[in-house]
Amino acid sequence: MSSEDEIQMDDSDSDQGDLDDECLSDDDGIALESHDQNNSEYRENAVPDNEVLNHDSLEIEMKKTIADVQAVLQTKGGMCRILLHKYKWNKESLLERFYENPDTTTFLIDAQVIPRHTESVPAGDSECDICCIVGPLSGLACNHRACTACWKSYLTNKIVDAGQSEIECMAANCKLLIEDEKVMTYITDPNVIASYRRLIVASYVETNRLLKWCPGVDCGKAVKVSHCEPRLVVCSCGSRFCFSCSNDWHEPVNCRLLKLWMKKCSDDSETSNWINANTKECPKCMITIEKDGGCNHMTCKNTACRFEFCWMCLGPWEPHGSSWYNCNRFDDSVAKTARDAQEVSRANLQRYLFYYNRYMGHQQSLRLEGKLYATVKSKMEQMQTLSMSWIEVQFLRKAVDVLSECRRTLMFTYAFAFYLQRDNNSIIFETNQKDLEMETEQLSGFLERDLDSENLVTLKQKVQDKYRYVEHRRKILLDHCAEGAEQDIWMFNE
Ligand SMILES: [Zn+2]
Ligand SMILES: [Zn+2]
Ligand SMILES: [Zn+2]
Ligand SMILES: [Zn+2]
Ligand SMILES: [Zn+2]
Ligand SMILES: [Zn+2]
Repeated sequence: MSSEDEIQMDDSDSDQGDLDDECLSDDDGIALESHDQNNSEYRENAVPDNEVLNHDSLEIEMKKTIADVQAVLQTKGGMCRILLHKYKWNKESLLERFYENPDTTTFLIDAQVIPRHTESVPAGDSECDICCIVGPLSGLACNHRACTACWKSYLTNKIVDAGQSEIECMAANCKLLIEDEKVMTYITDPNVIASYRRLIVASYVETNRLLKWCPGVDCGKAVKVSHCEPRLVVCSCGSRFCFSCSNDWHEPVNCRLLKLWMKKCSDDSETSNWINANTKECPKCMITIEKDGGCNHMTCKNTACRFEFCWMCLGPWEPHGSSWYNCNRFDDSVAKTARDAQEVSRANLQRYLFYYNRYMGHQQSLRLEGKLYATVKSKMEQMQTLSMSWIEVQFLRKAVDVLSECRRTLMFTYAFAFYLQRDNNSIIFETNQKDLEMETEQLSGFLERDLDSENLVTLKQKVQDKYRYVEHRRKILLDHCAEGAEQDIWMFNE
């Protein structure tokens, strides 16, 4: 076993092992989150405590960590950077290991930052192995040497074309990484130097378990957390995402199931043709209905019909509030009575499409309800010209924020429900899901249709009562899911 393997193995036995556990057990992380925020009125609006760092501040933090290690080891900064890279920027674990046997040379050899054996080098000019020109050669501690021009083109190629920031020695089978000071003696082009510096910072972010690039388009900033766990982080650009998997914040479904779900959705030929249909037929008079808002409580536009129905299941709207009606629960009696493999597979497909349809439906509503920000903005301006102050009208914006969060949560509840096994706990979950869904549709309907039909004081009271109650329903659902994860009650089919 090489000494590099030893480092990585030992590392994972101690610190790294705990961290990996933390990172992998999604359920635990989410449960922790719910505990921390139990007292906050709006769970996700409790300010996440992550830092946001741009390129310059990342570089400063990185250099500071390097300097801390350098002060102890008393060796070149470039060597310390390679060491830190090998320890995944876990400075504490690196120093702890060093103090076990505080001898810099041994430590650097064990970490393969400098070679154990070096061959003797003939003095004077020699022939460069690569270009065969005779002249002064130079090289690394491993005594692999080449002429300056060859080093330069080798390093430039690694930086510019391969995008590497930890570059191995040019000799085949030599795994020695070249320290930055050495790289800089060969590279003179300022563009290449700038690329190298960017790559070093990128490598610092990507190997550091407490940092993550913001997935926002063209953002270029990173978020920093104090513990590596699945949790909501927020960037200054407005992106809100899961620290572990960088997807949209996806509570209640955990990172692992979400990954399976997204893979399933992208693999499945049945869903690749899910057209983002904005039109369906009225189930009663068959006239084509266009959906231009997020609310799923539809009223047929045919004045002779005016049938009220649900966009998701196309059933009449009226029984949706009653306890016996389950728009969100898949009826699996077909699967139970399936007689042959073909019927089973058809039932499985129906089941999957049931959840997929609702997952996509809420995603579509989320997008359509984005338009509400413009609607409430003009309503808020109008209210300010009447009698209310800027602060007094903010409840409308807040209502749309809550609506968006509920849509996102509902969307991910269908990925959660798809994998969930039927038992008493899943029935409670489905009841919570149904309640949240009903309340969310009512809030959506209110914001999309009824804003103008109320006087200001009643309007404010109604909207506030509604969004507080919807938010309360969302918290009940999420807390139930988080507590279930903590107590390990959820049984998933994968
Ligand atoms: Zn050469
Ligand atoms: Zn070498
Ligand atoms: Zn960002
Ligand atoms: Zn995640
Ligand atoms: Zn109709
Ligand atoms: Zn329905």
